[in-house]
Amino acid sequence: MERLAKIVATIGPASDSPETFAQLLDAGLDVVRLNLSHGNHEHHRQVIQTVRRVTRERGQFVPIIVDLMGPRYRLGTFKTFDLHVGDQVRLGDSSVEVDLPVEDSAFLGHLKVGERILIDNGKVEIEIESKEEHRVTARVLHGGPVSTRKGINLPDSELPFTISDKDRADIAFALEQEADYIAVSFVGGPGDLDAIRQVLRQAGGMLPLISKLERKKAMSRLAETVQASDAVMVARGDLGVEVPLHQVPVMQKRIIATGRRFGKPVIVATQMLESMMEQPRPTRAEASDCANAVFDGADALMLSGETAAGSYPVAAVKTMSQVIVEAEGYGSAKLLRQHGRQDASDLPDRSPTHIVPGALEEFHFKKSFQEHFEIPDVVCAAAVQAANRLHAVRIVAFSQGGFTARMIARYRPQTPISVFTRERAVARRVQLVWGVRPLLIEHEVDHHDEVVSLVDHSLFENGLAQPGDVIVILMGDPIAERPLTNLLRVHRIGPG
Ligand code: PEP
Repeated sequence: MERLAKIVATIGPASDSPETFAQLLDAGLDVVRLNLSHGNHEHHRQVIQTVRRVTRERGQFVPIIVDLMGPRYRLGTFKTFDLHVGDQVRLGDSSVEVDLPVEDSAFLGHLKVGERILIDNGKVEIEIESKEEHRVTARVLHGGPVSTRKGINLPDSELPFTISDKDRADIAFALEQEADYIAVSFVGGPGDLDAIRQVLRQAGGMLPLISKLERKKAMSRLAETVQASDAVMVARGDLGVEVPLHQVPVMQKRIIATGRRFGKPVIVATQMLESMMEQPRPTRAEASDCANAVFDGADALMLSGETAAGSYPVAAVKTMSQVIVEAEGYGSAKLLRQHGRQDASDLPDRSPTHIVPGALEEFHFKKSFQEHFEIPDVVCAAAVQAANRLHAVRIVAFSQGGFTARMIARYRPQTPISVFTRERAVARRVQLVWGVRPLLIEHEVDHHDEVVSLVDHSLFENGLAQPGDVIVILMGDPIAERPLTNLLRVHRIGPG
């Protein structure tokens, strides 16, 4: 069975050699992530060259996500010591007397009395009791060791979204390297994405943006943030620090449901197989977590340290792939049992409307969504129904930008989805989308009949359809005008 949910793997010192990267591809890697919080441009440039070369040689399309560090706050340099519950501690600029110096004190002005400061992934928690110009005095709520350059999270504070010089240089690097996506850390809402797009425009280009949902603020504006993004990530690492940890599983479900509602791919990230950093086999809980992300309807599951710096990068991808395939098999089998049928072709589509959203705000944008996307959405829904009823072997999107692929995939059809495109970048980018596999076409096509005949030949030549098989083709017509999807064609592969 073809795997439908995709695997994003972070490439780092444990996986950046051409040999290991090729093994990761064999194991099931679909998408590469580069974490620009670590390493320098020279190293990332070499990784990109390796990825492009190895995938070209193998005739594969693999998109590259450049993940920006974003506005991160850190402690400065000092000698490690322990904080105990009830202690009073001074945190601030190293120019004044403090116990905890910070690396860059610009954020201090935004802090208010009563707000919490979380240190080292939330292990240590302090609450601000008073404030002076260059420091705050706080009471320790949860104690523990504190040491140099540990990260700081400020879940209660109203912080402006700032784009550092490093992020600007990394955005320029992503454009220069023709990366496929930029992942934006600590997005608070659509305005933050506008700010990144402005920097991209000034640097002379544009790239699709993946919003990393890891702030309380973004969660309170979920629908509009998802709508303003090209894709989203459930960035559970920082999310689990910024909001109470017990809320994260439900937030994951809400984000995935909202992504599907708007046709935006959703990546579930962080600690998916964390124990495989050191062990060749994951814990039972981790295997279940991966399977549950599949049941939630995620487009992609992400590996971070497991592939970037762990001892078993290839085994981690293999394990994730096996868990996904098993979960998807169960999902289909369960649907079949529920409907008492022998094969999937008569099933109702797994429409996003079957998902019960977790919050009302997911409906707030429905109206504007319908105004913009009603025609393509109706055509895509009809294609999925037609494919079921006619036992089609493929739904084919002739896609000039990847939009049609996302709009079909959000219905999670039983029928495999192929995207035909003339653009290499589109062929790479659609690999992030659930169930979608690309085919690059070399010829110019400017009439819908040419598309049909090209799809017919190419599916047959690639062994993806046999004479007599039914396929359902979607496109925007007239092709030269690049309208959104408006044409559905049912075709029998000939000569039948
Ligand atoms: C996360 O916080 O879960 C995440 C993916 O971001 P980063 O790896 O940059 O911390």
